[in-house]
Amino acid sequence: MFSHSRVKIAIIGAGPVGSLCACFMAENGYDVTVYESRTDIRLDKSTSGRSINLALSERGINALQFIGLDNIVIEELTEPMYGRMIHSVDGQKYSIMYDINKSKCLYSVSRKELNAFLLTKLEKYSNVKVNFSYKLIDVDFNSKLLTFQKLLENQQQEIVKPDIVIACDGAHSVVRKHMIRLPMFNYSQTYIDHGYFEIKLPSSETKDILTPGHLHIWPRNTFMLIALPNKDKSWTCTLFMPMEKFPLILESEKEDILSFFNEYFKDFMDLIQPEDLLNQVTNGKARTLISTKCNPYHVNDSFLLMGDAAHAIVPFYGQGMNAGFEDCTILNQLLEEYDHDLKTVIKTFTSRRFQDAEAISDLAFYNYIEMRDLVARRSFLWRKKVDNILNKWFPQTWIPLHSAVSFTSIPYKQCKLDNQWQDQILFRMFILFATFFSIGLYFIVASIMSKTLQ
Ligand code: FAD
Repeated sequence: MFSHSRVKIAIIGAGPVGSLCACFMAENGYDVTVYESRTDIRLDKSTSGRSINLALSERGINALQFIGLDNIVIEELTEPMYGRMIHSVDGQKYSIMYDINKSKCLYSVSRKELNAFLLTKLEKYSNVKVNFSYKLIDVDFNSKLLTFQKLLENQQQEIVKPDIVIACDGAHSVVRKHMIRLPMFNYSQTYIDHGYFEIKLPSSETKDILTPGHLHIWPRNTFMLIALPNKDKSWTCTLFMPMEKFPLILESEKEDILSFFNEYFKDFMDLIQPEDLLNQVTNGKARTLISTKCNPYHVNDSFLLMGDAAHAIVPFYGQGMNAGFEDCTILNQLLEEYDHDLKTVIKTFTSRRFQDAEAISDLAFYNYIEMRDLVARRSFLWRKKVDNILNKWFPQTWIPLHSAVSFTSIPYKQCKLDNQWQDQILFRMFILFATFFSIGLYFIVASIMSKTLQ
């Protein structure tokens, strides 16, 4: 392996993206130090707080493959989901498979378990050091000085001077906050109107209602409930709805809470004890969802944002972490392409990545409407059928949007463009069909009328 042991890389944040990025840089022989503000999540045995299950897909798996972890992660940590199971208000269910051959699936994985797994892998590299409870509080881009507060040591401060800083410190990135003051740095953030609330379903015999191998969705137009399977046969459910609606439901009287769930999610209520649900509602809290965009992702030739720090997106395409993992793949490709000329790699990363990150951010917004509303419509199911037929006839050319995003590594921007021309073709086909149908109908009616008049 190429040796870059004298180049000191600081990675801020040991979330999924920071941990994976550290593995990539360690594989490449760099001297890596990871700084994480939290304590080691592997020592945190509490089950309270956010659990968040993620859908791992092609782009994330490809990145894991680089460090030889794809198969082991899939086998040991994930549950496959081959399609969506839609639950209607009247209790009817129907399945929409992701792939007609049922060969493609998303993998449900606990963010915490995947993160812990990556940390354990990370510790095996001799050229990596992980500092927990180190909170980054200040950044000086010119002198490359980072100031940390050591949370376990009387808040003492430590200043370090690495050669390269890769900030994977999430949607509320401290490094990005410091970049906002720099000239020519563009940044925007949007808190969407909708938030989420997690509910844990214990492992029990749920097969009739929660059929295995599916992501379950209760679409209810302006809100929805989803359930993702866990390895231990329990389910992690998430209620998405407008933030302003949460207090009206979750902070109301017990009977009102139960009657809301009974009215909209009747079959779900067959899976959970009312006391358990009420307990979770009382102790849990609704959380906001933020989407951020910025440009550039780098400062000078030594600071780089990656993962949510660079592009936090709403979770409805299940791509936030996958996109962050794909950032690691892109970084690695650039290292090879520019023969480890880090200055060029860092400067090039933004131009290679930002259009794709913006495309998946936009697609993720659209997919919320699809999940909570469109999947319940007949027109959506017809579109899905037409897409499947065309995909069967032209497998290389006609790849439906969801498949292109989740089951290929086609750049996100290209996925979006392909979907636009597919929409146009289908619209023109529809107009053509409607025109022929109207002309045919006109002649039939005219011939009947002329016969009647004779
Ligand atoms: P984070 O996970 O936020 O990690 C950042 C790390 O940096 C944390 O460990 C934090 O403690 C640390 N840190 C922060 N500030 C500092 C500091 N000052 N100093 C030191 N350390 C610091 N993605 C998918 O791919 N598929 C899905 O199905 C999916 N579902 C989702 C569902 C929900 C409800 C939500 C909210 C998100 C979902 N996502 C999904 C998105 C996914 O969770 C994120 O994209 C992913 O966690 C981003 O990883 P990250 O490492 O960039 O950031």
